[in-house]
Parts: sequence; C-alpha cells; structure tokens
Amino acid sequence: GDLDVNVPVQSKDEYGKVIQTFNDMTLRLREAEDARRRLVADVAHELRTPLSIMQLKLENVQQTGQDVPPEMLLRLHDEVIRLSLLVEDLHVLSLAEAGRLSLDCKLLDLSARLERIVDDVKMEAEENGLELRFYSNTRPIMVMADVRRITQVFINLLTNAIRYTPEGGKISVLMEEKVLDRNAAYTCISVIDTGIGIPSEELGYLFDRFYRVEKARSRNTGGTGLGLSIAHHFVRAHGGFIHVVSESEQGTTFNVYLPLGKC
Ligand code: ADP
Repeated sequence: GDLDVNVPVQSKDEYGKVIQTFNDMTLRLREAEDARRRLVADVAHELRTPLSIMQLKLENVQQTGQDVPPEMLLRLHDEVIRLSLLVEDLHVLSLAEAGRLSLDCKLLDLSARLERIVDDVKMEAEENGLELRFYSNTRPIMVMADVRRITQVFINLLTNAIRYTPEGGKISVLMEEKVLDRNAAYTCISVIDTGIGIPSEELGYLFDRFYRVEKARSRNTGGTGLGLSIAHHFVRAHGGFIHVVSESEQGTTFNVYLPLGKC
C-alpha cells in the first residue's frame, strides 16, 4: 500500500537523520493503520452473529405471517440489549485506547464503595450457588477516583468471577493498604475465585479486546469479550495496574493496584 515506503539511509548527516525520522514515522503510521483495520474486522465479526440471529427470526415471522410469539420478542430484545452493551463498551474502549478517556475524580472511600458493589452482586452470586464475601482490615481507604469507572472495573471482575466459577464455589474480595515503593503508596484489591482458572499460556492475552480463553463457551455466557480490556484501561487511567494469578481448575485472582490519593 501507500505506506510501504522505506527510504535507504545512506549518510549519517542531517539528511540521513531526516530520512531515518521519515522511515520511523511511516512505520508508526503503518502500525496504527494495521490496528485500525484489525479493530474494524473484530467489530464486524462480533456484530455479525447477533444481527444474523435477529434477521433470521424476523424473516421467519414474515414468512409464516403469524403473530410474533412473546418468547421470540424476548429473545430479540435480549439480542438488541447485547448489541447496545457491545456498542457502549466499544465506544468507551476506543476513547481509552486513544488516551482520551475523561475521568471525573473525587476523593472516595474505596472500602465503603466496594462493600456496596459486593452487596449489589451478592444476589446474582447466590443465584448461581456461589458464596461471595468482602474482607477489609483497614478502613476507610481513600483514593482519588472516578466512582463510575472504578465501579465498572469491579463489576466486570466480579461478573467474570461469577461466570467462570462452578456452583458451590467461593468468591472473595480482599482489600488492603500496601506500600510498594518509596514514593508510591497503593491499595491492593483482590478478587479471588475458586473457578475454572486460566491456563498460564493464555494469561498474556487476557487483556486484549475480544480475547476469550474458550471461544464457544464464553460467547454463551453473555459477555462482550471487552470486560477485561476496559478494566485494564480504566485502572491504568487512574495510575494503577492489574496483576493476575491463575491456575487451571483451581481458580483465579485479579489484584488491582490503585494509588492512594492520586488520579
Ligand atoms: P467476556 O465478556 O468473554 O467475559 P472478558 O474480557 O471479561 O470477556 O474476559 C476475557 C476472557 O477471560 C473470558 O472470555 C474468559 O475466558 C477469561 N476469564 C476472565 N475472567 C475469568 C475468571 N475469573 N476465571 C476464568 N476465566 C476468566
């Protein structure tokens, strides 16, 4: 294509440097263009399935000329909701990837907030035969954070823990204040499950958009495949990071490190 240019550098003078800079720039442009192409292909792929399900159902109704059965309306509605969530997630993710995510940071008692989040998903956990507990030894723990984004991070991690832990399992949320180095104090929040785990060779791709460990199985759980990418970007935007430890059939721990009192 147009970007496949590479001018040979023949001298070390100013002229050579200009050419080198030019080559570096075209390389970066090419990488950005490749990333954009991949994103468009991924999105098309993700939209195709729910759209063709809806199309088939609607055509079926048209052909038989009968009234639309209520359960079909429910299924169609589910698919529309799924598509809307996907579009919403994509929008936020594209902002984050472009470094244009705006945070509305305020001083926040993270321990109190987490307690509420855990309360909010407790019912869903129990319906799935799981025990969900929150442990915190120090409180309050104050951070500068965007409540909405941080809430989304832990909702995503907890929803995953519920999805990927078989009945009878346990999910724990642990919170502690930690000092990692001389200058930076972090709090560490761990979301620990006793679920199916993630094979170690997959861990490196976990935060990539649309990455799923087992494609067929994950698709049926209703996720968009963007939950972890979004969590990763939101935490990074707060100056923090996520670290994951997992063992197949044993369970998974997501450690979320957030700086104390910064944003
Ligand atoms: P999804 O919407 O598919 O859950 P995510 O980005 O949230 O997408 O997660 C990506 C993949 O990582 C999931 O499809 C699943 O295979 C794996 N995964 C995430 N969380 C867990 C967990 N707690 N236990 C086991 N596997 C997990």
